Amino acid sequence: MSKEEVTAYSALNDTRLLVIKVGSVLIRGEELDTVNKPWMESLAHDVAGLMEKGVKVVIVSSGGVALGRKALGISAEISPGSIRLDQKQAASAVGQYHMFNGYYNAFQKFGVTAAQVLLTMSETENRRMNLNARETLYTLLDKGIVPVINENDTVSTGEIRFGDNDRLSVRVAQMINADTVLLLSTTDGLYTANPDIDPEARHFSIVREIESKHVKMAGDAIPGLSTGGMKSKIEAAQSSTKAGINLIISKGTENHVIKSLLTDPKRKSTLFLAQKSDVSARIKWLQSHLRPRGILIIDEGAHDALKKGKSLLPVGVKKIEGHFQRGDAVEIRTQTGKKVGMGLSAYDVADAKQIIGKNSAEISGILGYSGRDVLVHRNDLVLGD
Ligand code: GLU
Repeated sequence: MSKEEVTAYSALNDTRLLVIKVGSVLIRGEELDTVNKPWMESLAHDVAGLMEKGVKVVIVSSGGVALGRKALGISAEISPGSIRLDQKQAASAVGQYHMFNGYYNAFQKFGVTAAQVLLTMSETENRRMNLNARETLYTLLDKGIVPVINENDTVSTGEIRFGDNDRLSVRVAQMINADTVLLLSTTDGLYTANPDIDPEARHFSIVREIESKHVKMAGDAIPGLSTGGMKSKIEAAQSSTKAGINLIISKGTENHVIKSLLTDPKRKSTLFLAQKSDVSARIKWLQSHLRPRGILIIDEGAHDALKKGKSLLPVGVKKIEGHFQRGDAVEIRTQTGKKVGMGLSAYDVADAKQIIGKNSAEISGILGYSGRDVLVHRNDLVLGD
């Protein structure tokens, strides 16, 4: 499909690793502190179907505060923005249980296990924590488990702002190199003006480049149960598209929304197109964000394997230069000195030096602990000079 023809429908159907962000309003049931079970089950059903096709899915869900209101005595009339921080944090501690329990049971119905992952934004900014979180997510995904992520509201030091999970979902997508972030909320995308107020408001099905006019159109957060409004979604779209990840905004209120998005090309939503979806753009992104701390010199066999999309195994590495920690960026070169790519090392330099030239099965025997089988995982690798 040419770039001109790309739509939310085609982008979603081409996605192999998907982050779905679910807004509080979608998972809340009729009664306070209850989940919308039929909706959750329809989501789990659709996600299980996607997984059967080999698509990996991560869910980032809000709803902690919304589902803990009753226990904290916060009436439905109080807008989320007016709840005191300590109350929000306490409510979230209660509601998180209801929420995850809802997801867990919904996925169990379709034979899929869900895992609860609580992150904070500051952790995702810390390289080492980021790496650990990422490894955990990859491990879960490799096992066919669906991570259900929320911000760890109890320990988050900043104010809980509704819309934070829009940002968190993009951060997670960057962390795991996802192809697409799908934001499900009560709005079906970006309009030239607020469609609830202005009948002339026009809908965008695609935004190829976010300009200041789009940011203006998004306006500020609309008060309500959960929504961070379009503003936080546009901000999320800015960082997502810059990192080469598509972002789609869709209305998720009805059951089986994922199935409908995947099968109905006419369904209304806005696709913010990834600015850099090709590999050379990804390497530029890696290069601009990470300074290589070392060099891995590889043999021809390893080079061929990389070109086929494989990970870099220790056995194919001949020599190591530089000083790097686990998770640092390293350059990959051939023995003739040609730079073939860049990636993130799964081992620090001392351990890496001990395992190069060795088979992966020998790693734990040499290092005394069992780490990864690979020196640079293919998800952490970009080829090109
Ligand atoms: N972490 C918050 C909650 O679970 C939601 C933040 C958001 O909606 O962006 O209630």
